[in-house]
Amino acid sequence: MAETFDVIVIGAGVHGASTAFHLAERGAKVLVLERAAAASGATGRSSGLVRMHYDLAAESALAWRSYDYFINWEARVGGDCGFTRTGFVRIVPPRQEANLKANVADQQAIGIRTSIIAAADVKQLAPMLATDDFNIAAYEPDSGYADPTSVCNTLLAAARRLGATYRGSTPVEAVEVNRGRVVGVRTANGRIAAPNIVLAAGAWSGPLAKSAGVEIDIKAWHHDTGFISRPSQTPTSLPTVIDDINELYFRPEGPGLALVGLEDGNRIDDRPGDDARSDPAFVEHMVDRLTRRVPDYVQAGFQGAHGGTDGITPDQRAVMGRHGPDGLVFQTGMSGTGFKIAPAVGLAISEVVLDGAAHSVDIAMFDPGRFAAGKPLRGDHPYGDLWR
Ligand SMILES: Cc1cc2nc3c(=O)[nH]c(=O)nc-3n(C[C@H](O)[C@H](O)[C@H](O)COP(=O)(O)OP(=O)(O)OC[C@H]3O[C@@H](n4cnc5c(N)ncnc54)[C@H](O)[C@@H]3O)c2cc1C
Repeated sequence: MAETFDVIVIGAGVHGASTAFHLAERGAKVLVLERAAAASGATGRSSGLVRMHYDLAAESALAWRSYDYFINWEARVGGDCGFTRTGFVRIVPPRQEANLKANVADQQAIGIRTSIIAAADVKQLAPMLATDDFNIAAYEPDSGYADPTSVCNTLLAAARRLGATYRGSTPVEAVEVNRGRVVGVRTANGRIAAPNIVLAAGAWSGPLAKSAGVEIDIKAWHHDTGFISRPSQTPTSLPTVIDDINELYFRPEGPGLALVGLEDGNRIDDRPGDDARSDPAFVEHMVDRLTRRVPDYVQAGFQGAHGGTDGITPDQRAVMGRHGPDGLVFQTGMSGTGFKIAPAVGLAISEVVLDGAAHSVDIAMFDPGRFAAGKPLRGDHPYGDLWR
């Protein structure tokens, strides 16, 4: 093999870019190989929500550690990540109130600024929202959204400034293994050697894992998002909202638009593909759901919709850490919620590669072996699957 690196990262989405950045910061000789272009997968389509509310404290902890990057992006990484603070509201049906309270208490224990507020307080914060079908919500005043493409590109640029090598339009065909350990990858241009391979290929990860002899159930999750122009009579300060009653989320997009996604109707299959078209039925469902929560938006103008694809696992949680042949590290299966945790996960994976285990944040429970061991993850105070 002509070329040798310490680590090859497969995939230049936000996760591969984050790991390359953290590895390069520590002086590792890193190569990032990307099938198409940076942020051309899930990352470039992501809605970019940055919030800490999960039903699993370990995920909240990853989001919280990452939040510190988002608000200090220029100093920590360089460039602009587009973080916009809007406040975040999580609305749940009355039957989930006990779980909401328990999850907020867990998050407060981590240090996250979050609280339970009454429906009347939600109305005060955001008068355009209908609040007659729930009693309480979780509220994070500091959360909002960021620009996933900028996040990915600035991480990759910083990695390259620190010495990492990036090659786009270079699909990895197989991970090569010899005597139980990875030795490199095969591409159309030849073989490249490395004793460590980070698999960060999103929805495309399954066949690459298989080439290294690892069977892992990572499917393609297809998710559509729509953009509407906010009606001019409605105050512009729309918060970021996840509304489990209407299986809906939305947030402002710049000064005049709102971005909307649905928790249901997300196709799951084995075909990641590159098709960015949305399902024709999506727009009708989106308008119906959105106007239940924001009745004024019946006046909103439709601007467009597109689809994206992320890797999803059977328990809808990421797979992270060593698994299979020595030197193979998984950072994939982000299951539609991986953008906001990418800074902390990249840090953790760099520690797995260089130090043998993550020590800054805990990713042990995301072990890819949990499915074979019959131990899928479940929320601490579960709301059930986010996606249907
Ligand atoms: C529409 C949509 C909305 C979302 N909204 C949110 C949100 O609001 N908040 C949130 O936290 N998360 C959200 N997510 C999830 C989040 O965007 C993803 O979890 C995250 O971007 C995944 O990053 P990744 O780097 O793992 O994967 P990707 O961004 O998919 O990157 C994988 C990369 O690997 C490359 N690749 C594939 N095969 C190969 C190969 N053989 N060789 C080389 N390269 C290869 C691909 O081209 C791709 O660039 C959303 C996702 C989608 C699709």
